[in-house]
Amino acid sequence: MTDQYAVIGNPVAHSKSPLIHAEFARQTGQDISYTALLAPREGLRAAVFAFRDGGGKGMNVTLPFKHEAWDLVTAHQGYALAAGAVNTLEFHGSEIIGHNTDGIGLVRDLQDNLRCSIRARRVLLMGAGGASYGVMEPLLREQPDELVVANRTLDKAVALVAHFEKFQAFAPRGITVRGYASLRGERFDVLINATSASLSNEMPPLPEDIFAAGALAYDMVYGGTTPFLEFARARGAQTADGTGMLVEQAAESFLIWRGVRPDTAPVIALLRRA
Ligand code: NAP
Repeated sequence: MTDQYAVIGNPVAHSKSPLIHAEFARQTGQDISYTALLAPREGLRAAVFAFRDGGGKGMNVTLPFKHEAWDLVTAHQGYALAAGAVNTLEFHGSEIIGHNTDGIGLVRDLQDNLRCSIRARRVLLMGAGGASYGVMEPLLREQPDELVVANRTLDKAVALVAHFEKFQAFAPRGITVRGYASLRGERFDVLINATSASLSNEMPPLPEDIFAAGALAYDMVYGGTTPFLEFARARGAQTADGTGMLVEQAAESFLIWRGVRPDTAPVIALLRRA
């Protein structure tokens, strides 16, 4: 019998996850269906329970529900525990297991696909929303020299860093919080845009000379170029959008559900061509 999975969000029609998981299923010979499910803003719980009670095996959770979904699960595993947000649910009877695969997806894309090491590098993480919470622990476990978190609303960056206080020791020079204006004169090796600014064709207000020699500028938003990536390219940095992260986090969910890791390279290539 075909096992049912879905991504739940609001909005969700734009989601590439059904295409990605259909490709994974075809590639690995797994008998699954995977659909996109729109839930009302106040209706996550009812929609998740209805899907599960209808025989669903698991779900991905996207905006704006990743934090709320954390409260729904009966057991948090792996990075979900510290992240306070989940993007992957597994249903086992009345148990709902929650995982967060966003950070693994980012780290795999950076290190395996883009050959960009994080260890001993100076990393700037822009944004203090759900995406940043998801990637903090996996990034820190790669032992950057320093992780600087910048955000438009400083209080939110302070809260984010306080939340991950216990991981300070993973970065020898620590985790620090900065406003964009105070980044003048600083240079970074890996710059990760985890803000949603690109969605409104904007970018965080970065100083011109923020890129160290050989820096990588990474925008979590996927689907081509963004003002941040244009800015970086014009200043000699390497650039990457979030397509690889999207496919890698999906592959990790697929592995959790099906026990088999799909090959991500052809699916990343497919999305880049689409
Ligand atoms: P979120 O919770 O809504 O947080 C948005 C963040 O963006 C906040 O820190 C906000 O700053 C900042 N921001 C928004 N507009 C800005 C602007 N014009 N200038 C500077 N900062 C701005 O969103 P999220 O869940 O963290 O997601 C962030 C992005 O990551 C989304 O675009 C999402 O699509 C992407 N994402 C991609 C993947 C992937 O697999 N590729 C996975 C997860 C997320 P304030 O706090 O000041 O409002």
